[in-house]
This record gives sequence, structure tokens and C-alpha cells, in this order.
Amino acid sequence: MKALVIEAPGSIEIREVVDPEIKKEDDVLIRVTACGICGTDIHIFGGLKSARYPVVPGHEFCGVVEVVGKRAAEKLKEGDRVVVDPNLSCFQCEACREGRINHCTNGMINQGVNLDGGFAEFARVNVKQCYRISRDMPEDVAVLGEPLSCVLHGLDKAEVFPSERVVVFGGGPIGVLIYKCLHTIMGVSDICIVEISQERINAARAAGVESISDTIPQGEADVVFEACGSVEAFESGIRMLAPSGRLVQFGVPVEDAIGRVPLYEIYRKEISIVGSFVNPFTMKRSVELLLVYQDLFSGIAVTRLSLEEAKSVIRGEMATSGFLKAVVSF
Ligand SMILES: [Zn+2]
Ligand SMILES: [Zn+2]
Repeated sequence: MKALVIEAPGSIEIREVVDPEIKKEDDVLIRVTACGICGTDIHIFGGLKSARYPVVPGHEFCGVVEVVGKRAAEKLKEGDRVVVDPNLSCFQCEACREGRINHCTNGMINQGVNLDGGFAEFARVNVKQCYRISRDMPEDVAVLGEPLSCVLHGLDKAEVFPSERVVVFGGGPIGVLIYKCLHTIMGVSDICIVEISQERINAARAAGVESISDTIPQGEADVVFEACGSVEAFESGIRMLAPSGRLVQFGVPVEDAIGRVPLYEIYRKEISIVGSFVNPFTMKRSVELLLVYQDLFSGIAVTRLSLEEAKSVIRGEMATSGFLKAVVSF
């Protein structure tokens, strides 16, 4: 089959690879129908310690069940449409048994990072990673299953109350998902996105975001989401927090990024800085929200690219600021 392969940091190719096959009883072979491009794919191309090389990137994918292993057949059948959770923990280590499955210490699988992912015609996954969806859920909505599940984990950690003031740094797909969840589903009215790219601002507006600007708002915020992985955004976010404020580090910074924090302010204002990593137990909720709020989440992942174009995006040769989430469809 044809696949996009990151051979090593800095080296990416589209080439023929061996078709994945069912090996274990709970394996499922998926014919990939759509896979979103994410900043993480670009990080893997740049060189990521947690990645395996060579690897087929792509961790935001959905598709159709092609073959099911013996035990997987109890849950899924050929032709079922599914959204895939790319992450699979052992459920046996101490962290997993305490419910912190995103901190699994026993070889957690992150498909598209340390195991082949969705930028290929087929992908092998475990039945536990599959969430069945109806035939009529639009592809551009279904493909948001994984990013939205990560957003829900970040929202869980922030515990935002509807009357709180929220600022989101970064108007990419994650910032827009955070905005839509808080503004429309959770009823947070005082919320805005800060985004430096005018093209991104236009794209976010086209996707239904009302409050987005290239300048940092005056005044305090109760909750800040850093959703661009930038040290400047992190430091600006900390400075604007009100007493009892929380900053959620959601964007993926480069691995050696260091942000400065004003210690006295942390002490005096009782500020919290919390991280948010992947999607522990949030996939089911994500898929349910996508089903209920189909209209709200349509218009984010509407840009369709070929595998060739995805390669150019990951190599940094094709600008991505004119759209939110680009998706490769097969
Ligand atoms: Zn992603
Ligand atoms: Zn574990």
C-alpha cells in the first residue's frame, strides 16, 4: 500500500510499504478514509525523542473496518465506520491502575508517533481503540475525534466556570475547538482567542469564532489556554492571570523550551499551571459531542489535501495559516 513515511528526522517520503495484517485476536484492520495533519507530525519530522523511526505519521484518523480479528469480531464487523483513538495504554502498570492511563509506564502506544499511524491506505489498530460512528456523520466532523478528545482533557483540568474570563492563545484548530466547547457548549461568554496570523484569524472567523484578535486583551483572565506552544504566549498568559487563575499548557512546545514565571505572583495570587497531555478516557465523550453538535464542529477540518501536499506541509514548504485543520482523504 501507499504510505507517507518519516524515515528519520528531516527525511520524509511517500512510498510502498507492506500491507498491515491482523496478528492478534483483538486486532482490527481499518481502511483509512481521512487523517488530519497535526503539529505533532511536524515535530516528528523535526525530530522527537518519543518517536520511532521510520514511522507512518498521522494520529487523527477515521475509516472503515476491513478485517476483524476473532475477538474483535465480538465488537465490530466489516464495513463499520470508526473513529480511532491512536493511544493505547497497558491498563496494568501503577499509573494505569490509578486511572492515569496517559502516564502509562509500560510501553504506551501512540499510533502515528511510536507505531505506524493513519497517513496510509490501511492501519492496524486494537479493537479497544475503535469508536463506532454512524454512516451519516460527515467526514470533516468525524476526523476531529482525537483532537477534540485532547481538548476535553484540557477542559477537565481547567475546571472553567461559565462566569469566568477565558483567553486562548492560538487560533489554530485546537484553539478553535477549545473556544467552541467553552463558548457554545459550556456557556462561557467572556472568551477570546489571541492569534498573530491575520489569515488564521480569517479562517477561525469563517469557522464561526466571533471573538478573536491579534492583540492581547486588557485586563485579567481567570483561565488561560496556551494552545500554540510558544514561550511568549505562555509568559503573557501567566502575567494576565487573576488571583486563583489557571494556565493550561496545551500547545506542544519544542522539547527544550523554557518559560519564565514570576514566583511572587504565583505565591501571592495562588496561580496554577497545569499541563494537558493526550486524551485519557475522553474519546467516548468526544465522539458523542461530535454527534450531538455536528453543525458546531463542521467547517474546521474542511481543507482536503493529497498525500503529496501533506508531505509539503510537514516539510514546512506549504503554508498552513490559510486554513484550520487540513485532512488527507483516501
Ligand atoms: Zn494531533
Ligand atoms: Zn500502563
